Amino acid sequence: MNAATGDAALHRLFFALWPDDATRARLAQAARQWSHRPVADDKLHMTLHFLGACSADQQACYSQAVSAVHCEAFELQLDYLGGRARSQIQWLSASHPPTALAQLVAALGEALTSCGYEAEKRRFLPHVTLSRHVRKPRIQAGLPAINWMVRDFVLVESVAVEGQVRYEVRARWPCR
Ligand code: ATP
Ligand code: MG
Repeated sequence: MNAATGDAALHRLFFALWPDDATRARLAQAARQWSHRPVADDKLHMTLHFLGACSADQQACYSQAVSAVHCEAFELQLDYLGGRARSQIQWLSASHPPTALAQLVAALGEALTSCGYEAEKRRFLPHVTLSRHVRKPRIQAGLPAINWMVRDFVLVESVAVEGQVRYEVRARWPCR
């Protein structure tokens, strides 16, 4: 429990890339183009690290830890429609993800270990989920790319209210 605030509640948190309005609009258009039940526009994002349920103290530790991470701005070219039947997710990803993205994910994972976080062993697969519960996700390479200029990363809380999940950006760190 956080002694200062008395906040014993757990918060479901993840680090993510959060699209600017113009990019979000293009992602939303793609979501509608490629799926019947698109993810809500305001939930489109790219997860970098999923932290799960965190206390206020853990949240403070994670926030402090990533503030030392060097992030360089980069451009993501989302040009690949993919998915996996097992997870039933339809997503958009990059056929050539920039090195800077992998570097950012690695640097964040490394920094977060000081707070007890264990990064996933699986290779990071950068993707924006367009739709869920898709039985047969479509695969299509070489789409006209959605160019997303990434200038920061964020910490997001996934808030469950009355059976619905809402995402709230809690903090933001710049990429220079
Ligand atoms: P719901 O689970 O109710 O359908 P949601 O998936 O939108 O809602 P969360 O489960 O809170 O909301 O997930 C937030 C983000 O973290 C999403 O990008 C999700 O894919 C990712 N995520 C959730 N659980 C995990 C996990 N165990 N490992 C990695 N990423 C996860
Ligand atoms: Mg989920």
